[in-house]
Amino acid sequence: MDKQLAEKTHLLIIGSGPAGYTAAIYAARANLKPMLYQGIQPGGQLTITTEVENYPGFPEGIQGPELMIHFEKQAQRMGADLRYGLATKVDFSQKPYKVWIDEEKLIEADAVIIATGASAKWLNIESEQRLNGYGVSACAVCDGFFFRGKEVAIVGAGDTAAEEALYLSKLCSTVHMLVRRDEMRASKVMQDRVKNTPNIKIYWNTETDEILGEKTVDGMRIKNHVSGETQEIPIKGFFVAIGHNPNSDIFKGWLDMDEAGYLITQAGTAKTNIEGVFAAGDVQDKIYRQAVTAAGSGCMAALDAERYLSALGL
Ligand code: NDP
Repeated sequence: MDKQLAEKTHLLIIGSGPAGYTAAIYAARANLKPMLYQGIQPGGQLTITTEVENYPGFPEGIQGPELMIHFEKQAQRMGADLRYGLATKVDFSQKPYKVWIDEEKLIEADAVIIATGASAKWLNIESEQRLNGYGVSACAVCDGFFFRGKEVAIVGAGDTAAEEALYLSKLCSTVHMLVRRDEMRASKVMQDRVKNTPNIKIYWNTETDEILGEKTVDGMRIKNHVSGETQEIPIKGFFVAIGHNPNSDIFKGWLDMDEAGYLITQAGTAKTNIEGVFAAGDVQDKIYRQAVTAAGSGCMAALDAERYLSALGL
């Protein structure tokens, strides 16, 4: 694999969420001709959300997928080289840095911006894995449509779960929302909306014992861990919305990360522990995780990369 002919670039951006595209826009405008690989989900997590009401500049709100098309078009118009493909391996031992795409294509880059985002977490119970894609989903916006008029469940109590429960409540007859504590983590406004939606039924202190069904989901067995009571409820769809993991596996051993795998950047910069390798967006942010903060950190990464490359005379 190492002997293959490498394609060279000054700046490689990995990832196509708000962080990656913003980095591409800034770097392209600085004439760095960035090459950007979009990963398996071009546009990132916003492509599986609905209304975005808090991205500044859109007073009426905007749909997540539409917002990401704007980002992509803007990066393209500035001259960024956007490509399909997933970074599968890196070698940051010497310059230029090596990144393999789809396990075969080799890119050599003078600087790299990592904006690989984060992916949905799962409960990791056997029935969830077995029925994944057959009624079990981590994306209400992608799959809710299949359960129109039916009963569904959603696990989680953060803003994502609240947003997805509300989305499902418009399509489905009943949404059973499973909350593992006696309170929700979601913002007050989202909690109020959920609680005031008549066809969302909240189960406090409740965990999933098992998702029921042979080939497709037809029910769930849940347990209240305070009373010890279990019950079976017929459902057709089971949605998991319990947070995310940073997409940083391929950087293990090269870049400093915390115990959850979030890349560590030097405070106030996008710099990682390897010079010329920068990180932006959710892969390095477990606190804010907003589209606008991801975009802001993508801008920082591009400016840091630009300074780094110009100091090298590139
Ligand atoms: P969070 O980490 O905020 O919430 C995860 C939720 O899932 C928590 O309620 C957690 O419970 C629960 N959970 C975790 N593991 C399990 C498990 N094994 N079984 C049952 N429940 C579990 O993730 P989100 O994806 O909701 O949000 C991430 C970030 O994005 C947040 O900062 C959020 O505010 C933001 N966001 C903002 C939106 C907006 O502004 N429009 C929309 C969506 C997200 P517990 O509380 O007990 O830990």
